[in-house]
Amino acid sequence: MRDLRVTVWNEFRHEKSHKEVQAIYPDGIHAVIAAGLREHGYTNVRVATLDEPENGLPQSVLDETDVLTWWGHMAHGEVADATVDRVHQRVLAGMGLIVLHSGHHSKIFRRLMGTSCSLRWREAGERERLWVVSPGHPIAAGLDPYFEIPEVEMYGEHFDIPQPDELVLISWFQGGEVFRSGCCFTRGHGKIFYFRPGHETHPIYYHPQVRQVIANAVAWAAPVKSFPFAYGGGRAINVKEPLEALG
Ligand code: ZN
Repeated sequence: MRDLRVTVWNEFRHEKSHKEVQAIYPDGIHAVIAAGLREHGYTNVRVATLDEPENGLPQSVLDETDVLTWWGHMAHGEVADATVDRVHQRVLAGMGLIVLHSGHHSKIFRRLMGTSCSLRWREAGERERLWVVSPGHPIAAGLDPYFEIPEVEMYGEHFDIPQPDELVLISWFQGGEVFRSGCCFTRGHGKIFYFRPGHETHPIYYHPQVRQVIANAVAWAAPVKSFPFAYGGGRAINVKEPLEALG
């Protein structure tokens, strides 16, 4: 499982333009997320960023990606529609997608959800407590009943997403809000996990439990090998014929 081909995508803009962010993520948020995955035993992790040709995600890279993680914030609009189309098709074909923090407003997440994906937010360095609400779920493996992050940007309900297929984590914030922080979806053959933590001015992706959740989510979102299915018209199924005869 840990030889899954993982691509960590980051828009990589705050780190270049904001000193405060540079101090926390000198080599970019993607470098720290990738390090967290390697720490958890993933051996096949690459990084890609917005300003590379084809936004770092040409078809050749996507074809060799089992699970893609996505962090973006200030430049969602600069992601080419053709890139969104390619990622969308790969998800429908089975690639896993982990959408992090402000990626909630990315073109790809909004397209996959079909809703505004808007939420309430506040930058006040508040404490967050993330409660595990699906203890038997693979994404919760190794976690305690809850974990805390000392200083975060608050995200609050209502979060305008479709009802998740499974809800793994709910956050409580010092200011009183709650938020669905770990949400599972499927679209086509692909699995999607939205995970809330990750504001650029706090060292969130060094946090051990945050790294644990991302590592767990990558394993959960891995494509499942299945037979090629022939969509479209077909003749009646004769139970005496082998499955290969379908289509
Ligand atoms: Zn943020």
